[in-house]
Amino acid sequence: MPSESVKVAVRVRPFNQREKNAKSKCIISMKDNSTTITNPATGEKKVFAYDHSYWSHDGYNVDPDGIFVSEPDHEPPYADQQNVFNDLGRGVLDNAWQGYNAALFAYGQTGSGKSYSMIGYGPNKGIVPITCGQLFKAIDENNDDQKQFQVTFSMLEIYNEHVRDLLTAAKSQPAGGLRVRQHPQTGFYVDGLKQIPTDSYKQIQRLMDQGTVNRTTASTDMNATSSRSHMVITITFKQIYKNDRGQSTTKSSRISLVDLAGSERAASTGATGDRLKEGSAINQSLSTLGNVISSLADKANGKSNIIVPYRDSVLTKLLQSALGGNSKQNWAKSIKNQATINESPTDKLIRELKAEKLRLLEELKKLKSG
Ligand code: ADP
Ligand code: MG
Repeated sequence: MPSESVKVAVRVRPFNQREKNAKSKCIISMKDNSTTITNPATGEKKVFAYDHSYWSHDGYNVDPDGIFVSEPDHEPPYADQQNVFNDLGRGVLDNAWQGYNAALFAYGQTGSGKSYSMIGYGPNKGIVPITCGQLFKAIDENNDDQKQFQVTFSMLEIYNEHVRDLLTAAKSQPAGGLRVRQHPQTGFYVDGLKQIPTDSYKQIQRLMDQGTVNRTTASTDMNATSSRSHMVITITFKQIYKNDRGQSTTKSSRISLVDLAGSERAASTGATGDRLKEGSAINQSLSTLGNVISSLADKANGKSNIIVPYRDSVLTKLLQSALGGNSKQNWAKSIKNQATINESPTDKLIRELKAEKLRLLEELKKLKSG
């Protein structure tokens, strides 16, 4: 069983119009996987190492006279959506084929580029559509006609700790949101959430467009199209095939792709009243996510008696299976999961017996030679 650590990547986006108007200076520089932040007042530099540092700035910067200049020669090459997919999305897909769950989160302030990286805009498709496209490409290329595939797609948002199905019209949903329930074996799930069987990339693209339109947005002082909700896309992928004893067996995996709400604090956005309440509920989910990650890290580092507070927010309840045991995620650095493959109990038994047989043969060999 592989012990997989988690991957963290950081990406810098081009200046927006507001930043250009304010003659902002880019204080980030990147080389290989390290990111350096320079304090403009003191010149002090802080260097951070990530699994990946993506330079997606367009090279515009201010010269000493306050004029924007493009400095393409001074910048690492621009990291586009395909580069990001190649590093992060492909790993998620490989894990899914092997029967592992996987999760990918986008974290950052409103306007930092989360939705751009995850979903994308127009022709600049993000990790989610590229991943879905590649999944169906690989399914179509499969020429083992004994093998069958099942893919389902769901898309929800968590807004003020309420769950809304983004694939169902708003008027046909309960005002207080869909209920989150717990199944004794499979854990938390959203009662009544649409899980749409899909057999083509085009179909997923249509569903994603529909869900994106339905996603709640509300303007704040920070950004006119600010997104105050967490969006969770779940793709379930099943491979049905005959094992070496001719029995039908299923390998299944769940891919969770999460575009988190803006990480800005209520205080800095000038939010009051309803906005503030909303802000705190969002922070409840975000801060619980942070607590869950640090508890998992403590656990992985050998601390005993750790209770992981999945139950403290809707987001962490729904992501429990993505964050806990059987998953590989691309987020917080210090968690180590012992991931296990989702397979049927008989297959597991056969695999374990085979491993045991190999171990005994190995021991026998040692005894003979020693
Ligand atoms: P968020 O979802 O974090 O609120 P968005 O993804 O909507 O932010 O990005 C804000 C703006 O910045 C959008 O207009 C988007 O097109 C642009 N943008 C974000 N990331 C990039 C990037 N890597 N390259 C080019 N433009 C980007
Ligand atoms: Mg967004």
